[in-house]
Amino acid sequence: MHTKTITALAQGLRDREFSSVELTQHFLARIHQYSELNAYITITEEAALSAAAHADTLLATGNAPTLAGIPIGQKDIFCTLGVKTSCGSKMLDNFIAPYNATVVEKLNQTGAVMLGKLNMDEFAMGSSNENSYYGAAKNPWDIARVSGGSSGGSAVAVAAGLAAAATGTDTGGSIRQPAAFCGITGLKPTYGRVSRFGMIAYASSLDQGGPMTHNAEDAAILLQAMAGFDDKDSTSVNHPIPDYQATLNDSLKGLKIGLPKEFFGEGLSANIATDLHNATQEFQRLGAELIEISMPTLTLAIPAYYVIASAECSSNLSRFDGVRFGYRCENPVDLADLYTRSRGEAFGKEVKRRILMGTYALSAGYYDAYYLKAQKIRRLISEDFKKALAQVDIIMSPVTPTNAFGIGEKTADPVQMYLEDLYTIAINLAGLPAMSIPAGLSAEQEGAPMLPVGLQLIGNYFAEAQLLNVAHQYQQVTDWHQRKPADFQ
Ligand code: GLN
Repeated sequence: MHTKTITALAQGLRDREFSSVELTQHFLARIHQYSELNAYITITEEAALSAAAHADTLLATGNAPTLAGIPIGQKDIFCTLGVKTSCGSKMLDNFIAPYNATVVEKLNQTGAVMLGKLNMDEFAMGSSNENSYYGAAKNPWDIARVSGGSSGGSAVAVAAGLAAAATGTDTGGSIRQPAAFCGITGLKPTYGRVSRFGMIAYASSLDQGGPMTHNAEDAAILLQAMAGFDDKDSTSVNHPIPDYQATLNDSLKGLKIGLPKEFFGEGLSANIATDLHNATQEFQRLGAELIEISMPTLTLAIPAYYVIASAECSSNLSRFDGVRFGYRCENPVDLADLYTRSRGEAFGKEVKRRILMGTYALSAGYYDAYYLKAQKIRRLISEDFKKALAQVDIIMSPVTPTNAFGIGEKTADPVQMYLEDLYTIAINLAGLPAMSIPAGLSAEQEGAPMLPVGLQLIGNYFAEAQLLNVAHQYQQVTDWHQRKPADFQ
């Protein structure tokens, strides 16, 4: 049951092959059995079983939404009423959210069953899940390797069959990179497509929630439930929501695919280049046309992102002061001591590094040199995408420069870690939608394990339906998305 797609599970529930309670019990048992993967921070066993029982009554009416009774996991960045919402931090280890994020509310309304809260890098800062206060979520393809970050727990849960699907968030690659490392499908929607209300803010102008699933069809189902205008989020966009499943089977004949040469050059592992070459050939067979394009500003994305994201996080994280909620140090002698020790004791190293960098970049005297400059680069990157997307329908690229790396391999060198985001970050700066889909299984060198490889599809603003269509067509003629890690069958 745990390798089935949402579509297959929804059918099984309707055919009474199993009930939602049985399905939920099955997933809960697996979560306990494979606790070494460290995918969950909190398991909401009792609430899940009662939600499942409720879904079973809803299903019995014959009139339930597709997601009714489907067990899913929520990234621990989404506030969940009455449930610990830690954001992967010691700062919020004692925080019980007093309300639901809009995404949680919407998914609850469909009758989906929340199994628990998924592991993540502290405040979504990271590319390996190693910055989590609760320890790294481990890659089920090789547990000595990272799952990717920051939505590592979500990717592990889906890949190892510890949830039928999961939510994630993506500020600079956090849905797509772990999806690629764990061999699942991830979609980062257009900025503003999915409400950020109740989604703990890292870098507000970049953060966006989205689905992490077994395949594109499931991503369409989950996105359908997550998307939409929310008057509680001033950055959410009131743009019509298409039926994401309706166009999944459209033909790709005549589709123009751009391949930016800057994404396929130096720094990309040879095995990934080969797998992606094969994938693009597959698209050609499906009737698409491949066009080489150039996007010269892409190389500036990482420095611009780390200035902007750090600046925004330094402001967003100032709310954690030991006064209103979250961690408070013991016996503060005065207010300054309360602030300094609460923040000093509860934030991890990477979060502190970003707050320091961001505060520096925003300080008088440096603002123009760093923050303003980064914003100008951001504009140039958006223009580059605009030009490219006037020429082609979608852009294809790698998701990551390497396969999933070893736990501990890059923690000593933050810049090495930042370079992991080479291919994903520019998309967030432009606010565009993008997907990561499994497109291979290969080893970096002889003797190394075979690991999943992701292909990135980048579309125009609000072109999620088109991305899902392109991904779905590819998944009709390939089976990379059906491969599962051998040790967690
Ligand atoms: N790895 C990037 C960072 O550390 C992106 C994280 C994310 O998308 N949340 O900021």
